[in-house]
Amino acid sequence: MKSTNQNNLLDRYRQLVEISRDLASTLELNELLNRIVHLACDLSQSEAASILLYDELKKQLYFQAATNLDEPLMRGLIVPVENSIAGWIVKNREPLIIFDAQQDERHFNEVQKITHFKTESLLGVPLITKGKIIGVLEALNKRDGVFNQLDQELLIALGAQAAVAIENTRLFQQSDLIAEMVHELRTPLTSLNNAARLILQDELPPEIRKKMAELITSESKRLDELSSAYLDFARLESGRVQFIAEKFDLGELVRECAAILDNNLRENNLELLIHLPNKPLIITADRDKIKQVILNLLHNAIKYNRPGGKITISAKKRGIHLIFRVLDNGYGIPPDDINRIFSKFFRSKSSPDFIPGTGLGLAISKRIVESHRGQIRVFSRQGKGSLFTVLLPLKSREGN
Ligand code: ADP
Repeated sequence: MKSTNQNNLLDRYRQLVEISRDLASTLELNELLNRIVHLACDLSQSEAASILLYDELKKQLYFQAATNLDEPLMRGLIVPVENSIAGWIVKNREPLIIFDAQQDERHFNEVQKITHFKTESLLGVPLITKGKIIGVLEALNKRDGVFNQLDQELLIALGAQAAVAIENTRLFQQSDLIAEMVHELRTPLTSLNNAARLILQDELPPEIRKKMAELITSESKRLDELSSAYLDFARLESGRVQFIAEKFDLGELVRECAAILDNNLRENNLELLIHLPNKPLIITADRDKIKQVILNLLHNAIKYNRPGGKITISAKKRGIHLIFRVLDNGYGIPPDDINRIFSKFFRSKSSPDFIPGTGLGLAISKRIVESHRGQIRVFSRQGKGSLFTVLLPLKSREGN
């Protein structure tokens, strides 16, 4: 009869075998990383586990997934290669067991300050694929006893499978994103090419030549906007964006955004109403990113509106959340399009053709809001107007 220990050992190896099947079944990077950290946690019988990915160009590590910690704060949190345990693992390409991280001079204390998670014991393994180090997998605080050789071996085996799966998923995502971008670039490039060819014809009437020159200018501007928006989107999608949480007054931010778009409102003869409570609306979130969301929504309410139209932006507390709304009485969105409005590159055919855009603003906004554990919704009636609502937790982390 096998001892309990042996049974336990067998169970853990069995778990490992099942993992390869599991890891191969997703091509969504964040989902994959989440699975890996949960498996690492179970397999090593520890309190928590996390993955730090290595940015070779910047020579730094950043948190990408963790079992127990708050995502918006953790995601993208940078850990230097010098003076950190994970950095030591990257440099030495070796696993490491630490019995008391607090006593270890390599321990990078900044993370603990932000997360309030106290690391006691730690087991870390390098994630290596095709000879290249892509990150570090760490198990934190062994539940009973101390991390041992068996834990280390199991984590190395998991790490080896995880590294391959991460690399495959990244390659897949990159090729997917590049294919889409190339597709999106084709239309403006074709019209640029046609306009440039036309403009060269001697017999072209001056007014057409002028029109062509204008088209070239506007299409190049669109290409430029598309490239920047796409970069933003691709960065958010890859999870390499660092969210920096700070306390700020959302009301003040709303007024700031309104001031930025003031000229735009005036040029289009639009009225903007702002409804805010008397007291400040203090929220903990990434101010710049939330600003991007408000500007996107406000800008859309301006673009997809008619002269003389009205826009109302309001914000208030609702329990542990904050809700802000952007309402317009513009063109609205047809029911058939409403479910696709947050998809990348989607632009409703019902919106007038002359309105410029990339179809990325709402996709970017959605990712930002969801990274804050919030929700973004739309309600609309074609021809009557649209209402966008954003629900954000007041605090991006419990107990903060
Ligand atoms: P863009 O405005 O650059 O096309 P967005 O992602 O911001 O991209 O919006 C996607 C599409 O959603 C727009 O092309 C438009 O068809 C529709 N849309 C967004 N906001 C509004 C709005 N306030 N009113 C009507 N339609 C809108």
